[in-house]
Amino acid sequence: MQELTHYINGQHVKGTSGRFADVFNPATGEVQAKCPLASVEEMDAAVAAAQAAQPAWAATNPQRRARVMMEFVRLLNRDMDKLAEALSREHGKTFPDAKGDIQRGLEVVEYCIGAPQMLKGEFTDGAGPGIDIYSMRQPLGVTAGITPFNFPAMIPMWMFAPALACGNAFILKPSERDPSVPLMLAELMEEAGLPKGILQVVNGDKVAVDAIIDHEVIQSIGFVGSTPIAQYIYGRGCSNGKRVQCFGGAKNHMIIMPDADMDQAADALVGAGYGAAGERCMAISVAVPVGDETADRLIEKLVPRIEKLKVGPYTAGNDVDYGPVVTAEAKQRILGLVESGIAQGAELVVDGRDFKLQGYEDGFFVGPHLFDRVTPDMDIYTQEIFGPVLATVRAGSYEEALKLAMDHEYGNGTAIFTRDGDAARDFAARVNIGMVGINVPIPVPLAYHTFGGWKKSGFGDLNQHGPDSFKFYTRTKTVTARWPSGIKEGGEFNFKPMD
Ligand code: NAD
Repeated sequence: MQELTHYINGQHVKGTSGRFADVFNPATGEVQAKCPLASVEEMDAAVAAAQAAQPAWAATNPQRRARVMMEFVRLLNRDMDKLAEALSREHGKTFPDAKGDIQRGLEVVEYCIGAPQMLKGEFTDGAGPGIDIYSMRQPLGVTAGITPFNFPAMIPMWMFAPALACGNAFILKPSERDPSVPLMLAELMEEAGLPKGILQVVNGDKVAVDAIIDHEVIQSIGFVGSTPIAQYIYGRGCSNGKRVQCFGGAKNHMIIMPDADMDQAADALVGAGYGAAGERCMAISVAVPVGDETADRLIEKLVPRIEKLKVGPYTAGNDVDYGPVVTAEAKQRILGLVESGIAQGAELVVDGRDFKLQGYEDGFFVGPHLFDRVTPDMDIYTQEIFGPVLATVRAGSYEEALKLAMDHEYGNGTAIFTRDGDAARDFAARVNIGMVGINVPIPVPLAYHTFGGWKKSGFGDLNQHGPDSFKFYTRTKTVTARWPSGIKEGGEFNFKPMD
């Protein structure tokens, strides 16, 4: 049994709290490692190391910091297979999907190589006689991030790459379900030239999270995970005077108009609904065909595709479409919601409840499910299932479909499939959701745009990555400078316009 560590001040440090979480291999159901759960004292030690190291890192010029990012990109590519293997083993996602997880993080690191450009600030020459005004973007100091299990490489990189590029120290509290890749990333950053204490990994649960929220030295918190925890961290973090951005759960609708290419829509839905076992915050979990005839055609195309899905362990390579869910509890919760859907009157068109995989009977596999005739009052509609379960809600018109997406409490992503540019434009303009796809089922913006949901899917003012991240991880300081010939002329006592 492997005992994992923290990574504090450049060293692997054993947990001292005596508390551990089980890390499973979701494909076999076996406990493969123990993850230490930090105490407040362990968090304090990391913060102290970060506080001591950060000023020198902030004083390192941005181009040198960017070079560390450049080298980190090279090391990520060098170790891609090793990282992806560790990721799949703890998370359960397929090997190509694990590589995608790393790649989407790597792209944000690449974006952060542009830090010298992003941090240039503003300058007004001659704002008044002999007066210049300039704004600087300065790092916050010690920053922290709390990340979910479903993207153990990508989301930590979305946070720590801009934080470090801006000159901050960063403490990562990854998910206790799959902490190995975050530890490997911290090691690789140091191999790339990052000084010790600037990126640390403190493993843990609510104790470690509360220690972050209440720590006086920590200036900002980034969180990605479920909505109740997002709301909790946002509220308590803000009231402690920190800068906080929290991204929560999702229930992403895909609207299928009668004129859509139905094969394309069905292919998109199968990938977006069942890929990564539905454990993506941008997964499509609700299909909304407009009109009964569209719904019938869609279901007819979907069923054979879903029945053909190959569910299995990542070790089966390219032969697998999706893997197990993360824990036995997650599997239980998903199957419980499936039962509730049946009890509340939805039509289970594809039933994955009896799915078994020979040789992997103890793994956390869930067969694919498709529901039709779901209504907005059902639990399978209101709740985030986070599993391979797609709900179809039939809408009578475009306006009804739009209203469904808009009335749902979550607002992370959505998509419309249509050949009609006017409908697509109208949808993109009116829908109250942060990320919109037009004939694109999972519209995750690339690194140089920003990522963020609306409503109960996002709390805070700024999105992740892209230009927003450089704003989130810096403070603006504005200097009004005058080098007058005539300070000797005497003091000025009135607040005057600069004319
Ligand atoms: P989670 O909320 O259970 O855990 C996220 C983090 O919070 C983990 O690090 C965990 O240790 C910590 N945590 C858990 N319980 C806590 C508590 N009571 N107090 C303080 N901290 C606590 O989420 P998860 O199951 O790891 O991830 C899945 C969820 O994340 C889904 O809801 C998914 O939609 C969401 N998600 C959202 C986005 C987004 O960008 N909006 C991206 C990925 C995942």
